[in-house]
Amino acid sequence: MKHKIVAYKTLPADVTDYLREHAEVVFVDGSDTQALSAALKDTDGAIGSSIRITPAMLDGTRIKALSTISVGFDQFDVPDLTQRGIVLAHTPDVLTESTADTVFSLILASARRVVELADWVKAGQWKASIGPAHFGVDVQGKTLGIVGLGRIGGAVARRAALGFNMNVLYTNRSPNETAEREYGARRVELDELLAVSDFVCLQVPLTDATRHMIGAPQFARMKKSAILINASRGATVDEKALIAALEAGTIHGAGLDVFEQEPIDPASPLLRMPNVVALPHIGSATHETRHAMARNAAENLVAALAGTLRTNIVNREVLAQ
Ligand code: NAP
Repeated sequence: MKHKIVAYKTLPADVTDYLREHAEVVFVDGSDTQALSAALKDTDGAIGSSIRITPAMLDGTRIKALSTISVGFDQFDVPDLTQRGIVLAHTPDVLTESTADTVFSLILASARRVVELADWVKAGQWKASIGPAHFGVDVQGKTLGIVGLGRIGGAVARRAALGFNMNVLYTNRSPNETAEREYGARRVELDELLAVSDFVCLQVPLTDATRHMIGAPQFARMKKSAILINASRGATVDEKALIAALEAGTIHGAGLDVFEQEPIDPASPLLRMPNVVALPHIGSATHETRHAMARNAAENLVAALAGTLRTNIVNREVLAQ
């Protein structure tokens, strides 16, 4: 008998066809928590993204596998899934390069004031040749501090070191030898990274250990000229403290793809600051990469339900059960 799968996100047609070859597929609007909870009661697996799947939603279900169309898995209580024997699959690697491009576009846009000055031109303000009031700062040759140098951080380090001749510093709990060897990255304590970096770039997963890891004390250690780049998860930064640091001139600017609340409140002070570049969580959002992620997540789910998935598993311990 075919497995049953709940999809709580729209999928490309060919990915839906692929899933339908292997399972009975039911689509549900993931933003309707009641409908999603009800659908989860009668399914073997689920695929989607950006929706919190709570332990309560899994009570009384027979679910064997969940597949998130993302590399981040902060929407799940992983120890609870493991205890229930539920495999959680994710999509690392396929989104690494696109997300690193987003990070680098935030670095360049913040440093060279691309969004602010493009808006200024469109508003008809360009009436004479520009002067120092419109200058930005260089990116090449500067120091980039990467907090969390893993897959995406590594791809950012490659762009920075090989493309922009930047010095790369990083913090991780364990060394990244490839980045040290190939990009000259140097592992330092967070305090040192904050004190000397021109750009501080967060690429850690959101966990209890990383929630609000950058707050008022960390901003106080940064250079006044520093730019914070966050394309990890909004809650790795204490957003109130970020607003205060930008208002007080403690740091110079920020390039943000992620926020504590998404979509961001249109009244947020961040959106009124010319020295803030704000994007709507587009890290991996290219046609090619989003398609590859959906395909990868669908294949992960089918394989997990067949008991053959060996890669892309968040909670590998579950295989030993
Ligand atoms: P990854 O390869 O697992 O890299 C994460 C890095 O963070 C690792 O090097 C890890 O090293 C380090 N780390 C983990 N916990 C840490 C801690 N407590 N303190 C310091 N370093 C820590 O993951 P990835 O594929 O690069 O993705 C990183 C994150 O980016 C994802 O979890 C996701 O939230 C986010 N993301 C955002 C977008 C977007 O659209 N904006 C797109 C993709 C991903 P150690 O284990 O050695 O500490």
